[in-house]
Amino acid sequence: MPRTPVLAGNWKMHCSIAEATALAGGLASKVGRVEGRRVILAPPFTALGAVRKAIEGTKIELAAQNVHDQSKGAFTGEVSPAMLVDAGATSVIVGHSERRALFGESDDFIRRKIESALAIGLGPIVCVGETLAQRDDGRTLAVVGSQVDAAMRGLDAAAARRIVIAYEPVWAIGTGRVATREQAQEVHGQIRALLQEMGLPAADVPILYGGSVKPDNVDGLMAEPDIDGALVGGASLEVDGFARIVEYRA
Ligand code: PEP
Repeated sequence: MPRTPVLAGNWKMHCSIAEATALAGGLASKVGRVEGRRVILAPPFTALGAVRKAIEGTKIELAAQNVHDQSKGAFTGEVSPAMLVDAGATSVIVGHSERRALFGESDDFIRRKIESALAIGLGPIVCVGETLAQRDDGRTLAVVGSQVDAAMRGLDAAAARRIVIAYEPVWAIGTGRVATREQAQEVHGQIRALLQEMGLPAADVPILYGGSVKPDNVDGLMAEPDIDGALVGGASLEVDGFARIVEYRA
């Protein structure tokens, strides 16, 4: 079975409830019935309910941008996996480089989040990626490999099949500097080989590229054999642009 492409929008800390409703509503009419592709929107927590309503009756899926690993307790400011399910999310982004770099999230914490999300039926979108200094030092594979290892090793095949990996080179996020399709394909191929080496169903795990994906570069990226979709930040905040990304032509 070929992997279903996934086009996911990470809205980050943008959008009031009114703005989120308009954005999701616009996308619902433009790409709400798209065939053969999964479309996932990840608004901020405060807009999950509004976006859920705006995409009701369409094929668009709802994701959160973060989750805590514990189910309840004294964790001020955090949101549990069950709360996300209650809000209508079916997926959650974990380990985004902004969470790793700005909020000190470790591989261990990210692994616990993945397991807690899976346990309640949320599909984790697990982000990995190297910084520019790490790439320049020739450490891309070592860094990305150890992040993937920490996230996935020891999971059973069924759990692995519910995970989406997003390879997001940190130097390409929000910078307008997209990885070339060859650079992205090389790392995607290495991630897939690593999954295989871990005994996981590598051919079934979608690996998305993220980092300055735009309407004018998505087609080339999606033509690569191991690029199964895109995790999109800035360009997911505008209806026509993100709709064009969803409707990429490979
Ligand atoms: C992201 O934040 O996941 C991302 C890829 O952002 P951008 O598309 O803006 O580079």
